[in-house]
Amino acid sequence: AEWSAAVRMVRELAPGGRVLLICHVNPDGDALGSMLGFALGLRSLGVADIQATFPGEFEVPAPFAAMPGLDLLVAAGEAWADPDLLIIFDVAAESRLGALADRLDRARESIVLDHHASNTGFGGVQLVDPHAAATSVVVEQLLDRLDIPLDREIAECLYIALSTDTGSFRFDMTTPRVHEMAARLIATGLRPAEISRRIFDSRPFGAMKLFADVLARAELEPEAAGGLGLVWTYATLDDLARHEQRPYVLDALIDPVRCVAEADVSVVVKQVAEGEWAVSLRSKGAVDVSAVAVALRGGGHRLAAGFTGYGTPSDVMATVRDQLSLQTSI
Ligand code: 5GP
Ligand code: MN
Ligand code: MN
Repeated sequence: AEWSAAVRMVRELAPGGRVLLICHVNPDGDALGSMLGFALGLRSLGVADIQATFPGEFEVPAPFAAMPGLDLLVAAGEAWADPDLLIIFDVAAESRLGALADRLDRARESIVLDHHASNTGFGGVQLVDPHAAATSVVVEQLLDRLDIPLDREIAECLYIALSTDTGSFRFDMTTPRVHEMAARLIATGLRPAEISRRIFDSRPFGAMKLFADVLARAELEPEAAGGLGLVWTYATLDDLARHEQRPYVLDALIDPVRCVAEADVSVVVKQVAEGEWAVSLRSKGAVDVSAVAVALRGGGHRLAAGFTGYGTPSDVMATVRDQLSLQTSI
C-alpha cells in the first residue's frame, strides 16, 4: 500500500510540480547517492522543477565531488519553502533535517525513503526497510516501480551509496540481493575500481597526519562493555585546524579504530563546537550500539550508530560506558 501510494504521488505531483529532495545533515555516500540517483531518475522522466539539498553546512565532501547529479543541488537557504512533493532520503529522525524540518508541514505531500531500524516514522508515506543495506536499495525499488530505467549516471550514484553503507560489501547486511543490485549497477558500464579509489582510497596528506595524531591517543578498555572491550579516541576542532582539514575527513577515522581486535565496541568522538561532539559507534556483533545511541537521543543501526554528546570527551565516554553496561548486563 505504501509503495503504490508513493508511486501515485510521484506520478501525480512530480511532472507539473516542484519536487524538493532532502537528505540528512553532514551527508554520507548513501544520503547523497540515494538522493541524487533518484533526482536524476526524475529528470529522466522529464520532471523540470527538481531541487536537492541538505541542512547544515553546505559542503559536499571531496570524495563525492564528482558524483553525477550535483548540478541539482541547491543550498538549504534557497530550497523552496512549500514544494508540491517532498522526498526525504536516509533520514532516521526529524532532528536530522535541521532547519529543513519545517518542509514536512509545508509540502503538499511527503515520502520518506530510509533503512534505519531507529526510524521514528515521521513524514507522509514511509518507505522504510530496516533490512535494506542502504537507502539506495529502497531507491532502486521505487525507480523500478516507476519504470525509470537505470542509466550509468543513476547507477553510479546508487553504487556509491551501496558501497559506502556496506563498507565495500563487507558489513552485516551484504546479502545476495545486495550483490545482485551491485551487478545490475555495474552492468550499466560504471567503473567500480575508479569509483572506489575516489571514494575510499584518496585523501589529503594532512588528513593522514591528522589521523596519526588522533589514533595515537586512542585508548583500549578491555573490561568495558561487559568484558567485550571498548576502544575509543577523540578529535578536536584544533586537530582539524592544525592540519588544515575539513570535518568530513574524520568520517573515515572510525575504520582503523573499529579494526582493533581486542574490542567489540569502537567509538570516535568528534568535536563540532565548544562542548558539542558528534559520536560514531560501531559494534562487531554482540552489542547493539543503536540502542546505546537511541538512549542518548541519536540513532542508527545495530552495528553502526551515532549521537550528539556534550561536555568533554571524558564526559561523553562516561555516558557511553553507562549505556554499554546497561546493554551488556541484560
Ligand atoms: P556515522 O558514525 O557513520 O556518522 O553514523 C553511523 C550511523 O548512525 C548512520 O546510520 C547514521 O545515520 C546514524 N547516526 C549518526 N549520528 C547520528 C545522530 O546524531 N542521530 C541519529 N538519529 N542518527 C545518527
Ligand atoms: Mn547516512
Ligand atoms: Mn544509509
